Amino acid sequence: MNVYLDSLGCRLNQSEVETMARQFAAAGHIVAGDPSQADVCIINTCAVTASAERKSRRRVQALSQANPQACIAAVGCYATLNPAQCAALPGVAWVIPNAEKEQTTKIVTPPPLRSPAPPPLHSPAPPLSRTRAFIKVQDGCDNHCTYCVTRLLRGPSRSRPVSDVVAQVQALVETGCQEAVLTGANLCSYGRDLGLPDGLRALIVALLARTDLPRLRLSSLEPWGLDESFFDLWENARLCRQLHLPLQSGCDETLRRMGRRTTTTEFARLVGTARAAIPGLAVTSDLIVGFPGEDEDAFRASYDFAVAIEFARLHVFSYSRRPGTAAARLPGRVDRAERQARARVMRELSAEQALRFRQRFVGREMTVLWEHRRPDGLWPGLTGNYLRVVTRAEDHLHNRLTNTRLLALQNGHLVGEVMEA
Ligand code: SF4
Repeated sequence: MNVYLDSLGCRLNQSEVETMARQFAAAGHIVAGDPSQADVCIINTCAVTASAERKSRRRVQALSQANPQACIAAVGCYATLNPAQCAALPGVAWVIPNAEKEQTTKIVTPPPLRSPAPPPLHSPAPPLSRTRAFIKVQDGCDNHCTYCVTRLLRGPSRSRPVSDVVAQVQALVETGCQEAVLTGANLCSYGRDLGLPDGLRALIVALLARTDLPRLRLSSLEPWGLDESFFDLWENARLCRQLHLPLQSGCDETLRRMGRRTTTTEFARLVGTARAAIPGLAVTSDLIVGFPGEDEDAFRASYDFAVAIEFARLHVFSYSRRPGTAAARLPGRVDRAERQARARVMRELSAEQALRFRQRFVGREMTVLWEHRRPDGLWPGLTGNYLRVVTRAEDHLHNRLTNTRLLALQNGHLVGEVMEA
């Protein structure tokens, strides 16, 4: 059968969909590049906020509109949180919660009552990018952040063995993959369930030593799970100079009510140590505004702290009350208009900081990994420290790493010139 796969939300969801795509292909199915060519559409849903739930519903509806004949499998966090709502959406034939997600290729069987699909006119493009692969190394979390529904939906922390991850990454390298991004619900806890006290370091060391992967990137790292010596790993230039350290609030009292195991002082110290060890490092973060009890002073403290840290980019979320979480029962709810106003202010700060970060690199030579040429003829690519660069070139650049001079900022985007053909 032809299977179309899509995901919303975090990189962990994306990595899960990539794994499913590989499993379907290995089982002899065709991974379709477009839902209109599919017998079955699989959507890995998200429920991190109420807005993510809405987007998940809309994505299912859009798939059903694009191909009313397709059977849809709603998988993942929204399917776990709200299975009845999912089942009622148009075209949904399977609702697969997180606990059964790894069995998706077995649960989703060819739909019985379909007329045979015409053969595709051309070989459909799989959704896998040869350039960058998201590798799920861990799932679940043992922390107790009071706002977090992910912990409830994904269960306790479990890790894949180091040897499995190494084998997967080396196999991807042999297909031409240039960059792997390690993902997990709580990457810092990697290996604890396997009896590895310093598991994430051990995994990174193994990947750098036992694979030929040109670039290794880490997704989100909780800021209390790292000791200072961790940053010595960046002596190896294959490790991307980007750290996503979710802070969530720059106000200590709010952090305490969120159940976060860090303080602003500890966070600032960690960022300082990382920056001293890793020149050119991009430090990005997540911030929630309008958490219950966040008054004007607390918001101002959070804003001022973000100013002081000078992030390379912030993902700003307006607090969303998630059923079943401890924060849903906290007093001091901030009304919607105020939450949205605070989110706007914080996003403006993020845009200013991101622009300043990009400006720092104008004139420098950096390595860029190029993606697909866009319809306007420009090639987009990413540096190790997550600067998005575009260039105009006749050469085929897709999936190549090149030394590139960053010439200028145009309309907020870095324009580069490839230094080698
Ligand atoms: S660390 Fe906190 S926010 Fe992150 S998954 Fe665990 S409980 Fe949720």
